[in-house]
Amino acid sequence: MIKILLIYTGGTIGMVRGESGELQPFNFDSLLEQVPELKQVPCEIDTFSFEQPVDSSVMKPSHWVQMAEIVRDRYNDYDGFVILHGSDTMAYTSSALSFMLENLRKPVILTGAQLPIGMLRSDARENILTAMEIASARTSEGEPAVPEVAIYFEYTLFRGNRVYKYSSQSFDAYDSPNYPFLAESGVDLQIYHDRILHQDNGQLSVHTNLETNITLLHFYPGLDRDVIEHTLLRGNRKAVILHTFGAGNAPMESWLDDAIREAIANGTQIINVTQCRAGGVDQWKYAAGAHLARLGVISAGDMTLESTLTKAMVLLGEGWEGSEFRIKFEQSLCGERSN
Ligand code: ASP
Repeated sequence: MIKILLIYTGGTIGMVRGESGELQPFNFDSLLEQVPELKQVPCEIDTFSFEQPVDSSVMKPSHWVQMAEIVRDRYNDYDGFVILHGSDTMAYTSSALSFMLENLRKPVILTGAQLPIGMLRSDARENILTAMEIASARTSEGEPAVPEVAIYFEYTLFRGNRVYKYSSQSFDAYDSPNYPFLAESGVDLQIYHDRILHQDNGQLSVHTNLETNITLLHFYPGLDRDVIEHTLLRGNRKAVILHTFGAGNAPMESWLDDAIREAIANGTQIINVTQCRAGGVDQWKYAAGAHLARLGVISAGDMTLESTLTKAMVLLGEGWEGSEFRIKFEQSLCGERSN
């Protein structure tokens, strides 16, 4: 029988109201009691709970490391993994895990809920049950049907490093404009097999060294020169991610170019990712992007911000630097970019 490890990290899915009315993480056993249908899922389920379940806005890279280590340490004991997680930063975790779990050949499906499981209109039950079904699904050859890190939410399965949370209100809280859904659940569960990633390059290799001396420079009209120079030049950053306009455009100011040039000379990787959620960076399209390309700024292509940040953390943590970092970053490692 298929064996799945169900990992609880926290989030609304398992929360209850505290004394002053705000939602707080609750204990895993009570959460399981709310889903008696789990006993009917045709697989053997073991559970593991974070000692201290957290709201996902509290999560840090060390929590991703904890999740990656749980998967690594139990990889041979289970056919798949389902991670219950807060929805706020789930796309960061799924992106990070996709890069940390190199050569993954088993499903790691994250899910959560917009309403706590104890509430009448909660979306939690369906999300957990279908996530379990996806983690257990096999191809006609008996192989795992979705051997990648993915998020299942509100009838849709998304690639973990292509998805972002776009709504704090809708049950369908996620979207993945640059990559089609991996599966949809209706009367039947429809898995789009031709969209699934297959990594056949050998043994699972788990990267747990993450570089966190990285920061984000979010451009907006009127952003102060001091802030830009400070972000680029102070703190000996390993990488600064420019969160730019449109196709990767930023103000054409000689002082900005000088600061980027100096940061690159100091060994800081400068990466360009767009604020647009659909489409991507094409630095040569406009003069406002080409000045960045000429300086050696790395394009994140059509990657999400979540993927850009976590991919940089993992690659820098592994020790990639200089032009080798750029070459690696500009490749698709696990389906995170198409250009
Ligand atoms: N604040 C919650 C969290 O991310 C929201 C949720 O789970 O939906 O943990």
